Amino acid sequence: METLILPGEHPDAVRTAADIIKNGGLVGIPTETVYGLGANGLDEQAVAKIFEAKGRPQDNPLILHISGPEQIEQFCHHIPQKAYDLAEAFWPGPLTMVLPAKECVPKRTTGGLSTVAVRCPDHHIARAIIRASGVPIAAPSANLSGKPSTTTAQHVYHDHAGKIPLIIDGGACRVGVESTIVDLTEERPRLLRPGGIGPEELLAVLGDLVVDKAVTAQVDKDEVVKAPGMKYRHYAPQEPVVIVAGSREKAAAYIRRHFQPGDRVLCFREELPLYEGCGPLSYGEEADVNTLSAGLFAALRELDDPKIHQVYARCPVGGGVAYAVQNRLKKAAAFHIVDAEEEE
Ligand code: AMP
Ligand code: MG
Repeated sequence: METLILPGEHPDAVRTAADIIKNGGLVGIPTETVYGLGANGLDEQAVAKIFEAKGRPQDNPLILHISGPEQIEQFCHHIPQKAYDLAEAFWPGPLTMVLPAKECVPKRTTGGLSTVAVRCPDHHIARAIIRASGVPIAAPSANLSGKPSTTTAQHVYHDHAGKIPLIIDGGACRVGVESTIVDLTEERPRLLRPGGIGPEELLAVLGDLVVDKAVTAQVDKDEVVKAPGMKYRHYAPQEPVVIVAGSREKAAAYIRRHFQPGDRVLCFREELPLYEGCGPLSYGEEADVNTLSAGLFAALRELDDPKIHQVYARCPVGGGVAYAVQNRLKKAAAFHIVDAEEEE
């Protein structure tokens, strides 16, 4: 199969994507978070193709992308007022809500769960494709399972060339990390995955928020967790990654002491001069966390190279989207963190 890349502004882009989706095919779709691999979320056979193309475990559910809050009732029941409050505050945007699923949502989409994740993306092309196809679009990140997510059309092409008919190129993703996921099926709202909407912003609307254990620690493959995706090794290049925490100077001293040929350093742009001779790669500016979230996955992809032995990574501190960057980097590092303030 030949894989066509069409610019989002091409006059045929939206119609061609919608036709493929309506006919049970897959399309690489730009959103503000990451590129998704989209299919008709109500069509079991179409959804099965997503799992096949990604090599995704069957119990890892997909997010249904909808055109707005008015569609929630079509796919969910027992919808609390909190869901509407969150939609009002953050949709369209990088927030996904988990709610009880209606019968019309196939078990393949929900990974066998009785709940479904829904989101309205803040990307005009994504929303135009949803509207034109007339169905909710199930779309996980378009990367091969376990690999760093896709934030450009070229990343999607790299992972799926010859396997899918169409990728819509909407440019580099603005947010660059996946959506924040909040579970609203229990008494207390629960943060299942940090993302473009920070925990403080959620708390301001909800007044209460439990942070799921899978956000802050490694979970075992056999453990039952609320967000099944969180238990798999994720976002990771093939070589080991270690996060080096601490001040700029102490971290640089630690990394330089341990650095061996074949290692790489993933750092902030401001730190590049400290790693001369170590082939440093920057993923954005520490002073502007949005550049870090936007640049993280492209950098992790560049570091996904069998010739590299080990990656030393610098991680931002703080809340908001920095909290999501920390989460993705910690997962890429399998929670391997050293503190340069303490280590010699
Ligand atoms: P991706 O789109 O690749 O970021 O994957 C979507 C993620 O959403 C999955 O890995 C799940 O962890 C999470 N998710 C989707 N549906 C549900 C659900 N019904 N309950 C909990 N988590 C979900
Ligand atoms: Mg993913």
